Amino acid sequence: MDLQLISTIYIGIIGLLVGSFANVCVHRMPRGESVVSPRSKCPNCNTEIVWYDNIPVISWLILGRKCRCCGSPIAWRYPILELTMGAAWASIAWFYPITEYSPLFLAQAIILFTLLWTLTLIDLETFLLPNALTFPGIAIGLLFAWQSGYIIDALIGALAGYGIFWLIAWLFFKATGREGMGQGDFKLLAMLGAFMGWQALPFIIMLSSFTGAIIGSLLLLLAKKGLKAEIPYGPYLAASGMIWFFWGVEILIGYQSMVGIR
Ligand SMILES: [Zn+2]
Repeated sequence: MDLQLISTIYIGIIGLLVGSFANVCVHRMPRGESVVSPRSKCPNCNTEIVWYDNIPVISWLILGRKCRCCGSPIAWRYPILELTMGAAWASIAWFYPITEYSPLFLAQAIILFTLLWTLTLIDLETFLLPNALTFPGIAIGLLFAWQSGYIIDALIGALAGYGIFWLIAWLFFKATGREGMGQGDFKLLAMLGAFMGWQALPFIIMLSSFTGAIIGSLLLLLAKKGLKAEIPYGPYLAASGMIWFFWGVEILIGYQSMVGIR
């Protein structure tokens, strides 16, 4: 077997395990609980989950999607997060093989994806973007930027990301008297600016607000009258950030050739 295939399998398996840990983060972080201790318990009957019932995806299948003790169903989110995390880690390892890309880039891609995917699921479930993820995310992003030689762009990106959204939210509040964005969104954009530099911000802001407006109005149309469909903004920011991270250069070249700049 070649190195590309072996590293893809290994990194995919680690991704599954990290997905299992991300489930703990999604459950506990919005509640302000520690993600390290105590051991995982069934949320229904409080029985501690033994290690062989805690193997990603496999345990969920063997247990028939139910808790061993009380028989209450285990949420779909658990295997889905594990599988998507494993698949994404494996895909990154496959499409950006370690033989062609620097380990620094691979680590950066995998960590950024893991943070954004975990934040997306927390935001969808609870409308929160915990500081316990965004603050370390900003620090990690700056560390990568420092190692890769664009720390100034990243520092400007983090400050501008926070500042732009703070300003928009302030103007929105002055104009309408309502809160448009949460503080978590400011910190998430600061994290994206730290990871990718300020150059990423215009694209991320434009794409996330554009898709957010379209999907938001579609959901409003689909929803019955009187029912207020609410979707947090974080997932749009996360998806736009990931698109810029992987395809930003191509998008920029495509745009420049479209408007005729060389
Ligand atoms: Zn139980």
